[in-house]
Amino acid sequence: MIIVMERGATRADIDHVVQRLSDIGAEAHVSEGQLRTVIGAVGDRSAIQQLPWEAVPGVERAVPVLKPYKFVSRDHHATDTVIDVGGVPVGGEVVTVIAGPCAVESREQLFSAAAAIKEAGATILRGDAFKPRTSPYSFQGLGEKGLELLAEAREEFELPFIAEVVDPRHTELVASYADLIRIGTRNMANFPLLAEVGRQPKPVLLKRGFTATIEEWLNAAEYIYKEGNHAVILCERGIRTFETQTRNTLDISAVPVLKSLSHLPVIVDPSHSGGRRRLVTPLSLAGVAAGADGLMIDVHPAPETALVDGAQAILPDEFAALMEQVGRIATAIDRKI
Ligand code: PEP
Ligand code: MN
Repeated sequence: MIIVMERGATRADIDHVVQRLSDIGAEAHVSEGQLRTVIGAVGDRSAIQQLPWEAVPGVERAVPVLKPYKFVSRDHHATDTVIDVGGVPVGGEVVTVIAGPCAVESREQLFSAAAAIKEAGATILRGDAFKPRTSPYSFQGLGEKGLELLAEAREEFELPFIAEVVDPRHTELVASYADLIRIGTRNMANFPLLAEVGRQPKPVLLKRGFTATIEEWLNAAEYIYKEGNHAVILCERGIRTFETQTRNTLDISAVPVLKSLSHLPVIVDPSHSGGRRRLVTPLSLAGVAAGADGLMIDVHPAPETALVDGAQAILPDEFAALMEQVGRIATAIDRKI
């Protein structure tokens, strides 16, 4: 149930609602907007519904939630959420571009990519220290050494960075370095990991499971949100279909669908979806045109030597050209990069 307070509701009215919920053993999640406060009630549904909410002072209406997720839905929060990632906004007017190598391989590789993406106008650096790989024999990442290099690059280029956490036991370690924590496609339904990142303070980028429906994905976001971390960004990265010409099928329609169902920012990953360098620019343009709040792009100074995902990484020059085109699409839809 979502309890929508009247515009003029006082602090005492809000506290009273919270108290009523606590009296029946339900949890209250208070979200204070600019115009009004809404309170998400979690607990025994029938006990909550039985209370005559509209008779309680300061309450405008009580809306039963039909969707299985609550806090990430637009019903709970009508306006778009903007998330601060180390000083860079994600959501709102700006289209935020995250770029860098799939994995951190060496200082030279990371710094060369970071310099190039900064120069081209990206505002968040990507690079992983822990890589989830389909084969257990593939390169698994440099571990903490990779995080140290990313932190050095942040200082040198003034770029906050995103890195993936694959193991709940590494959450604290990754969060102690990274500005934005990523949950990858293979872990979208790893509920203990979602809860763990929901209990730490860094924002989280949640990639769509490649076999997940939008509703399953929003439920995964709810797992994080419900633990107290409200800074969640959704990332469409392609789903598995019968098509074999691309690595995964980028579900462009997910962008406007999510925008109507949820208040969370949505970004698109054209690299892991297409899986091919030549597809990165057209998929990026399509993502921004469809209303995405940002892009996450694999850029590598020498893709042919890449230890991970070389086939989809674009060169720094190609990235600079892509940024120009993305800028033009953003302007056409009254946004900027
Ligand atoms: C990645 O972004 O490096 C990655 C591994 O992506 P995904 O989890 O979408 O495969
Ligand atoms: Mn990758």
